Amino acid sequence: MRIGAVEAGGTKIICAVVNEKGEILERGRIDTLTPDETMPEIIRFFRGKEIEALGVACFGPIDLNRESETYGYILKTTKLEWIDHDFLTPLKKEFGIPVGFDTDVNGSVLGEVTFGSSRGMKDVVYITIGTGVGMGVYTGGVLLHGAAHPEAGHIRLTRHPKDDYAGCCKYHGSCIEGLASGSAMRGRWKKRGEELSDNDEAWELEAFYLAQTVCDLTYTYAPQRIIMGGGIMHKDGLISMVKKETLRQNDGYSVLISADTIDDYLVLPSLKDDQGILGAAVLGLEALKEMG
Ligand code: ZN
Repeated sequence: MRIGAVEAGGTKIICAVVNEKGEILERGRIDTLTPDETMPEIIRFFRGKEIEALGVACFGPIDLNRESETYGYILKTTKLEWIDHDFLTPLKKEFGIPVGFDTDVNGSVLGEVTFGSSRGMKDVVYITIGTGVGMGVYTGGVLLHGAAHPEAGHIRLTRHPKDDYAGCCKYHGSCIEGLASGSAMRGRWKKRGEELSDNDEAWELEAFYLAQTVCDLTYTYAPQRIIMGGGIMHKDGLISMVKKETLRQNDGYSVLISADTIDDYLVLPSLKDDQGILGAAVLGLEALKEMG
């Protein structure tokens, strides 16, 4: 079986042909420019590839309400050229096959529970900490959608006593994205994440905020596991700092977080940054199944 998969991010779009075992048969990369430049490139990639379905895991916010007239549209994104762009219809029209559509981070959690180390789990939360912060919640074996795009990356946090940075979120200041994203690190320290490798205070603050995030998500969703992905999590040793700080902040409150469970509870992605594209393929597979 050949399934087309699109992982659409704000700077690049990965296109791939994937089989039902999660093996990537072909892969390409397209820069995210304007829709007029980029959409034809996506279509060109898949032409003649004999795909049976297509799945798209897309940067957001996006309209996921199937009853809505703008289902499959990108909404008020910071990528201004893409606001109100209909991502789905041109692909459906071109290929005439089932097309699944969801958020990039929902794609990542779906990739991990289908093909990764969380395979078979029914309650898993995926957090991505990059330029922004996003979350995908897989609960009771389905992706959580709600009545609109959930925005758990904007939960407010208690500020670290040593931190006087106002926060980079223009809506909330001190939310998770405002204090702990890559943009926040750049804003606070005037340096990129990679240039901060020796700044212990920077990572102490980061672990403090991410541990609060882990506790908040644990108390809300009680998942079997929380996966932490995104560029910031590539920092060596950060996951260990977050685990330690999570144990301290939880202080024995939730039984899900203990010294015995933490290594299995809080993990990095297992699919070598292919979780998003593989999850997109799962969206395609599901769309195919729905068509019967
Ligand atoms: Zn915010």
